[in-house]
Amino acid sequence: MNQLTLEVLSRVLSIVSIVIIMYVFYVVTKKMAIKKAENAKDAYICPKCGSLRLSLHDKLPPAIRFIGSVPAQNFECADCNYTGLAPKIYTTHIEKFRKEIKKTKRN
Ligand SMILES: [Zn+2]
Repeated sequence: MNQLTLEVLSRVLSIVSIVIIMYVFYVVTKKMAIKKAENAKDAYICPKCGSLRLSLHDKLPPAIRFIGSVPAQNFECADCNYTGLAPKIYTTHIEKFRKEIKKTKRN
């Protein structure tokens, strides 16, 4: 009887430890993802107005996306309603990119 209780207890303990390990892993990966996003060296930018407020606007059916033959980067700009492909540029070049947009608008 005592042996059985011990066995059950050890099993419960192993399950608990697995859950704890999984939780720690989840927390660490989440923190790493946030840090990675903060330290991102490049970002997608709207080619029309230079906004970074882009959302992925995916109209493609999942089957085509799975094949990957069609570019999946179909963006929608929250500021100027531009939809289409967005270039990925270095975050250090954002201001330069915006100046270039203003220049081309004037001409
Ligand atoms: Zn825009």
